[in-house]
Amino acid sequence: MSAAQSAVRRSARNRVLEGARGKEQSGHIAQKPGGDNDKKSGGEARAKRRVQVEYEKTGGNTDKKLKWEPSNWRQHLENIRKMRIARDAPVDQMGAGKCFDQSAAPENKVKNIRQTTLILQEKYGGDIPDNVPELVKLPGVGPKMAHLVMDIAWNNVSGIGVDVHVHRISNRLRWVKKETKTPEETRMALEDWMPRDLWSEINWLLVGFGQQVCQPTSPQCTNCLNKDICPGAKKK
Ligand code: SF4
Repeated sequence: MSAAQSAVRRSARNRVLEGARGKEQSGHIAQKPGGDNDKKSGGEARAKRRVQVEYEKTGGNTDKKLKWEPSNWRQHLENIRKMRIARDAPVDQMGAGKCFDQSAAPENKVKNIRQTTLILQEKYGGDIPDNVPELVKLPGVGPKMAHLVMDIAWNNVSGIGVDVHVHRISNRLRWVKKETKTPEETRMALEDWMPRDLWSEINWLLVGFGQQVCQPTSPQCTNCLNKDICPGAKKK
C-alpha cells in the first residue's frame, strides 16, 4: 500500500469514528442507520427540548393561577344574592348610605359627632376628608366606616367595609384562609383574594344576610341556600 492510500484509509477511518462518537453523544448509536430515521429522531429530540422550555414558562403562569381562593365562593355569593333579592333587611333602610342607626348607643356617638363637626369645619372647610388616613383620625371613625365613606361619599372603593356581620359570615363560609379574630384581620384576608369589583357590594350584601339569615347566635341554616356547601352550617 502506498503512503497516499494509507493516508486516505486513515482519513476515512477517522471520519467513521467521529460519526460514531457524534451519534453516541446524541443518543442515536442504538438506532439502525438510515438517513430519514436519523433526521426524524434528531427532530424529535429538538422538539422535546422545545416542549420542556415551554413547560417551564407555563409553570410561571400556573403559580398565579394557584393563588388561594375559598372553595365554592362563587356559588356562595350567587346564593346570597338570591337570598337578598328583596332588599328588605334593616341595612337596606338605614345603612350607612341611607340613614342613621337608631339602635346605636347614643352617648359616645353624640360626643363623636359634635367633635367631628367642629374638626370638619375648622380643618376641611365644612367638607369631609377624601382619603382613609385622614378619615380614621376623626373621632369614632374606624377602617370600616372610612372605607364605606370613601365608597358612598367619594365614589372611590378603597377597601371592603367589614363589620361584625361580614367578619362572622366570612369565617363561617371559610372565605378567610385562616380563622380571623377581628374585622380588620378579616378585611385584609378578604382583600387578598376577592376581585376588587366585588368590594363595594360585599358589605351591604353580607350585612343584610347576617341580619336576616346568618345571624350571630342562631343562624337559619335549614333555610339557607348555602346549607349544603357551607363549612360552618349547623346540621340539625
Ligand atoms: S348555612 Fe348557616 S352558617 Fe352557612 S351561610 Fe347559611 S346560615 Fe350562615
